[in-house]
Amino acid sequence: MIKKPFFGYATANFRYELLSKAVAPPASLPVPQQAVFLVPDPDDLGPSGFDYQVGTRLKTGQLLRARSGNGPGVYSTVTGTVTDTSVFLGNYGQKFLSLTVQCQQEDQWSEDFSQALEKDRQQALLDFLGAAPGAADLSPFADGQTPIDTLVVLGADPDLLVETNLSVLKSDLNALARGIELIKEVFGPQSVMVVAPGDNLQNVDSHFPARAITVPLDYPAVQPLMIMQKVLKRFPAQDKTIARLGVVFCKAEAVVSAAAALTTGRLPLEKLITVIDKQGNRKLARARMGTPIGDVLRRFGIETGSRDRIIAGGPMAGTAIYSLAQPVTAETDALMVQDRAEIVMSSDYPCINCGDCVRNCPAHVQVNMLVRFLEAGQYQEAADMYELYACVECGLCSYVCPARIPILQYIKLAKFELERSLPAEEDNA
Ligand code: SF4
Ligand code: SF4
Repeated sequence: MIKKPFFGYATANFRYELLSKAVAPPASLPVPQQAVFLVPDPDDLGPSGFDYQVGTRLKTGQLLRARSGNGPGVYSTVTGTVTDTSVFLGNYGQKFLSLTVQCQQEDQWSEDFSQALEKDRQQALLDFLGAAPGAADLSPFADGQTPIDTLVVLGADPDLLVETNLSVLKSDLNALARGIELIKEVFGPQSVMVVAPGDNLQNVDSHFPARAITVPLDYPAVQPLMIMQKVLKRFPAQDKTIARLGVVFCKAEAVVSAAAALTTGRLPLEKLITVIDKQGNRKLARARMGTPIGDVLRRFGIETGSRDRIIAGGPMAGTAIYSLAQPVTAETDALMVQDRAEIVMSSDYPCINCGDCVRNCPAHVQVNMLVRFLEAGQYQEAADMYELYACVECGLCSYVCPARIPILQYIKLAKFELERSLPAEEDNA
C-alpha cells in the first residue's frame, strides 16, 4: 500500500500488495442511460468515413468501425440510438469517432460476432477480442511478420494498487484455463505461461494448461517489459518490439473474455474495474464498456471537484482523464481519484542532476542523460545513445524526480513517435 502523501519520497521501494482476504464481489452497474463508444479512426477519415449519424440504431454486440472495414473497431455493448457524433483525440493524438448512444434497457443482439465465428474463428477473435474486456491484441499471431512462440498471460496488474487481473486469477481460474486452451487451439503458441507475483499462483496445479511463473513482489516485476528482460531474457529495441521478439502478452481478463465469447457465441459486455478513491480505498466494479466514468464514481459515492485528478490506470503509469463523460473502455483496468491537495504538478524546471532517477531505475537506464535528449525531441539519439528501449515504463523516475519532470510521459511519447516512423521507413527500404 502506498502511504499518503503519495508524492515526495526521495527513494521508492514499492511492493505489490497481496489479496490477503477473500475478494469482495464486484458491484454491478446497471445499463447506463447514455453510453459512449470511441471508434478508432487511424486513417483520419472523420465522421464522413463512418456509417453512423444521429438517429442510427445500434444493437448489442454490433461491430463499429470505419466504412472501409479497415483498421480496428469496437463493438456496441448496448442497444440504442446514436444522439451525437464528434471527433475525439486520445493519447498522443490518436483519433477516434465518438458516438453517444441513448440506451434502452433490453438488449437486442446483433449477429455480427456469431456470423464471424461461423465464417472464420481466428479472424472473428482478431476482429472482436481487442475490444473485449482486457483488450487482447492477438494480431501478431496472424500478421506474418514474426512467428509467435510464447503467450504470456498476466495474472496480476502491472501497476500498483490495481487488482483487476489478480482478482480474475483468484476467482476465475477455470475460465482462465479454458481460455488458454482455446487460444492455443486457435493460434497455436508453442509455450504459454501465466505470471503473477508472490504466492498468487499456489492454486495452479500441474493440469493447468500454462507454466506458472512467479515473479518478486517488488514493483515493477509484473510490467511486461520487465518480464521480457528478467524472465524471457529477450530485449526489445526500436526494430524489435515485443511481438517481433516472438511474444504476445495478454491479461487474464482478456483470456477469460475469449473463453466466454467462444463458448457462448456472445461477446462479454462488462469490464471489471478497480476503483480507488481519494483515501486509497479499493473496490471492484463491473460496468458495461461505454459507461461514462462519472457513473462508476457516483456508484461509490466518490465526488470530484474542479482540480481533483482522475486517472485511468494505476498511480505509477496511469494517464489523466479530463472529463467524467469519457467512457469505460476495454482497457480501463482502474479508475483512481486524487484529491487536488495531494497532486504534485509536473514542471518545466531543468534537471538538477541529482541522480535520483538513475538510482531508482530498475533497468539501469542513465535517465538524467536520456531526459535531455527527450526534452529536445531527439528521440533517435535517445534510443541510440541512452537506452530508451531498456526502459520498462515503470514511472519510478518520474515519481522521485525533484524537478517534477514528466519523464515517463516523454519516454512513452518518444517510443510512440519512433514506432510510428518505423513502417514508413520499412516501406521506403
Ligand atoms: S527510465 Fe524511468 S520509467 Fe523507465 S525503467 Fe527507468 S525508472 Fe522506470
Ligand atoms: S531527471 Fe530529475 S531525478 Fe533525474 S537527475 Fe534530473 S532532476 Fe534528478
